[in-house]
Amino acid sequence: MPEYLVKANNLKKVYHTEEIEIEALKSISFTIEKASFVTFIGPSGSGKSTLLNLVGCLDKKTSGELLVLDQDVSGFNVKERTAFRGENIGFIFQDFNLIPVLTVFENIEYPLIMVKNISKTERAETVMSLLEAVGMADQRNKMPNQISGGQKQRVAIARALTTQPKLVLADEPTANLDHDTAYKIINLMRDIKDKFGTSFVFSTHDPKIVNEVNVKYTIEDGKIKE
Ligand code: ADP
Ligand code: MG
Repeated sequence: MPEYLVKANNLKKVYHTEEIEIEALKSISFTIEKASFVTFIGPSGSGKSTLLNLVGCLDKKTSGELLVLDQDVSGFNVKERTAFRGENIGFIFQDFNLIPVLTVFENIEYPLIMVKNISKTERAETVMSLLEAVGMADQRNKMPNQISGGQKQRVAIARALTTQPKLVLADEPTANLDHDTAYKIINLMRDIKDKFGTSFVFSTHDPKIVNEVNVKYTIEDGKIKE
């Protein structure tokens, strides 16, 4: 029996605006296993961010079943959701979201200061080992505006891993990168999956860059295509 990190069954999300209702996810079902690499591929507006936001407990489902690490996350209040995210989930974004006034090192250290009560020396050791894992140790004292897009995304990957989450969610992490760099970033995430056993779930609108991943879901108009 495989152990699932995420299990979604007939998951639906409807956004209500003043004028209309938008059915962003129309009853979708999928599973994500431990230490896996899963991709959601679909055009803009197909529901990728909506899906990752639900799995990442950034937003709530409208109906259906969603278990993340065997927990029914929709029952959580705001405080519980925040704690759950901090403990279990790392995020990587399309526009990197590094803090501009912090160095590369400090950007990676930041989540550790926020969620874990550990000594400065221990923090530095964790940060350095992650910097090495993403090949950015020699760039540690630079500011985000002094490094390239690919390097920023490496830092964002390291930052997502600081708290040793079981699940890392990456919403179009390669959208702002050229093709070569995008391939490198995907391979880096895959190496890290093998090394740390972290599951990566990432979305892209570019099917070309995900040829070798083990699980692919194609999403279109809020539905998973067979
Ligand atoms: P993708 O990430 O694949 O581009 P999204 O999940 O962002 O797609 O969007 C799916 C659909 O839901 C789109 O029609 C989008 O306009 C709509 N949508 C997304 N977020 C909101 C929101 N906060 N309020 C209303 N509609 C939204
Ligand atoms: Mg999106």
